[in-house]
Amino acid sequence: MHHKIQAAGAHIVEHSWLARIARWVLKTPNVAMVLGRQIHLSGVKKEDFLKDRYWVEHELCHVQQYKDHGLAGFLSKYLIESCRRGYYNNKFEAEARRVGRENAGLAVHDSEKHKPEKT
Ligand SMILES: [Zn+2]
Repeated sequence: MHHKIQAAGAHIVEHSWLARIARWVLKTPNVAMVLGRQIHLSGVKKEDFLKDRYWVEHELCHVQQYKDHGLAGFLSKYLIESCRRGYYNNKFEAEARRVGRENAGLAVHDSEKHKPEKT
């Protein structure tokens, strides 16, 4: 999966304090979070992250979202979406889950397949 990260122009940051904060906020043992083209990891080793095809594809979708909306544009839209709908239902997360499953060759959940995606 490393070549896909390189092709996207993305970089992995291990032991990221930003991801550590996200871990604490989301109360989850491991976190990958994207900031621009950087994929910040906490609680997971780079090699284990790279083994999880869905996870890599999911985060690469976020890298693309940053490219589409710009750094400030994406962060503000993501924040507004999260406040309105919460983390899980925010449209950027829904898209990353759908694209992640598609690109990882997993079945796409019906409820997500028919959900209209807006930009
Ligand atoms: Zn996500």
